[in-house]
Amino acid sequence: MTIINNQIILAERPNGMPDQNTFRFVQQDVGELKEDQVLVRTLFVSVDPYMRGRMQDAESYVEPYKVNEVIEGGAIGEVIDSRSGRFQQGDVVIGMFGWQEYYVATDKELRKIDPSLAPISTHLGILGMTGLTAYFGLLDIGQPKEGETVVISGAAGAVGSVVGQIAKIKGAHVVGIAGSNEKVQYLKEDLKFDEAINYRSTDNMEAALKATCPNGIDVYFDNVGGEISDAVFTQLNRYARIPVCGAISAYNLEKLDLGPRVQTMLIKKSALMQGFTVGNYADRFNEGAVQLGQWLQEGKLKYRETIKEGFENIPNAFLDLFKGNNVGKLLVKVADHQYR
Ligand code: NDP
Repeated sequence: MTIINNQIILAERPNGMPDQNTFRFVQQDVGELKEDQVLVRTLFVSVDPYMRGRMQDAESYVEPYKVNEVIEGGAIGEVIDSRSGRFQQGDVVIGMFGWQEYYVATDKELRKIDPSLAPISTHLGILGMTGLTAYFGLLDIGQPKEGETVVISGAAGAVGSVVGQIAKIKGAHVVGIAGSNEKVQYLKEDLKFDEAINYRSTDNMEAALKATCPNGIDVYFDNVGGEISDAVFTQLNRYARIPVCGAISAYNLEKLDLGPRVQTMLIKKSALMQGFTVGNYADRFNEGAVQLGQWLQEGKLKYRETIKEGFENIPNAFLDLFKGNNVGKLLVKVADHQYR
């Protein structure tokens, strides 16, 4: 039987904000499986801000995408055929299948997930890469203590929404920064953040931070960089910790924006600023996933997902990340289960 695989490739490297010319839809025959190979049908595709970096031909912690090759990224799928003893039809698996409807994997590239624990999509979000990023970045670098003030930028997104809730579990005063009134309401009412600021409708971020952080800022979990972070820096306390997780405000800039320099503030406040990638914690992923799963079961963590439907909508969903059109983890649902 011939199976046609719809794929999305990088058509050209974007200069500034990617657009529809950045991507091209192509088709390929799946072909016959070889010994130890597994055929996976994609169910959910993750779109993530770091993918923007991989579209650039620049050295980083992950290889750049190659032009004319399928965009690689986290995805969840269902095994529909297997020549490996480790997987059988109907198994739900996670891997780096990327933006394509089918993926021929060697069995070492796949990890089985248990669909009875939580909705399978959570393994791309709160129980997966973004949840682990929040967990390790906040607890290992931020180290919030009871009564301290934790500020999070990109607070209503996949990483930020988990960071704030963990900070609450640790007894901190938690302030989120996000880009709409709906997000502010979500953070305060659903996730029980103490305060939240809509940076798009606030003229004076410094004043808004002073008002919401009367005791100054002890931990700043930075997802966005740029002017939002410049304002946060003015309110740091002595010995503040700043896990630098992301700088999404800079990902599409054509010209590097250096902004005010942070060194003086770091010296004055003896503050610690440390960049990290979740991959640094690979040998502790199990610990993080167990703890996140437990908090989720106990009702101490909540999550929301923004799920777009349809393979053809993956590029637009990716672009939505830069428009702030998501609350919580942004995913694309590509297909329904066939065997469950
Ligand atoms: P989100 O779910 O937070 O989605 C991105 C959000 O960023 C948008 O919803 C938008 O929310 C906000 N945003 C977009 N453009 C801007 C801008 N110019 N200025 C301020 N905010 C903006 O994504 P993730 O949770 O997956 O990722 C959050 C950050 O963490 C990213 O920077 C990402 O690169 C980084 N990251 C780092 C990892 C690591 O290992 N270090 C791992 C995973 C993610 P709003 O409406 O509030 O503007």
